[in-house]
Amino acid sequence: MLVESEINRVLVVTAHPDDVDFAAAGSVALFSDRGVQVTYLLVTDGDAGGNERELDHAGMAELRRSEQLAAAKAVGVTDVRFLGYADGTVVPTLELRRDIARVIRQVRPDLVITHHPDRNYEFVAPSHPDHRAVGGAALDAVYPDARNPYAFPELLQQEGLEAWTVREVWLNGGSTPNHWVDVTDAMDRKLAALQSHVSQVAHVEGFADFVRSRFAAWAQQAGFGEGRYAEAFQVVPTA
Ligand SMILES: [Zn+2]
Repeated sequence: MLVESEINRVLVVTAHPDDVDFAAAGSVALFSDRGVQVTYLLVTDGDAGGNERELDHAGMAELRRSEQLAAAKAVGVTDVRFLGYADGTVVPTLELRRDIARVIRQVRPDLVITHHPDRNYEFVAPSHPDHRAVGGAALDAVYPDARNPYAFPELLQQEGLEAWTVREVWLNGGSTPNHWVDVTDAMDRKLAALQSHVSQVAHVEGFADFVRSRFAAWAQQAGFGEGRYAEAFQVVPTA
């Protein structure tokens, strides 16, 4: 596994606004505290979600982008990019792999955080089809696309983007986590980030308690003890 000092740039690739905040906002806040440059790449605008259905899809997309920008700010992230794919219809196409590989070559991250591409049979929520599609495409973009100068040659020839090797990927939402980050010191900021998604969570009764108990359970599993909170990942070496 990479040691802390080897992680200077991080790219988080997710399907929808709020995914990064459930999965990793605490870890991101701790990265920000250390001066790590974190970039968010969202494949959709989340235009098929939410309860404000007086809004059309374009209105919802605009609202959810602005909520994600506010959530990012709560954990020290200002570089937030959107690919604009349609919510609910994402599949791991060559086009999506190219679009993610482009951003990998632009950002040149040491670490990529993304969705687990396999279905979790113990807990269905993380296995939304868009999540699995984005996780699979992001892993393919890490290996082989971004590092292979002959993959998507237009990226090098027309955009001047040199090949880049991401050395590690952390997958969220799988059934076999093997790395837990103690996010206790960032739990208030993680909650603030989640609550920035007003269209998604404002109507959920007991939301803060739900979030705290879920991430306390990960801390228990990790053996961090009472009163601690953790985020869980499966680490994939990709160097
Ligand atoms: Zn999602």
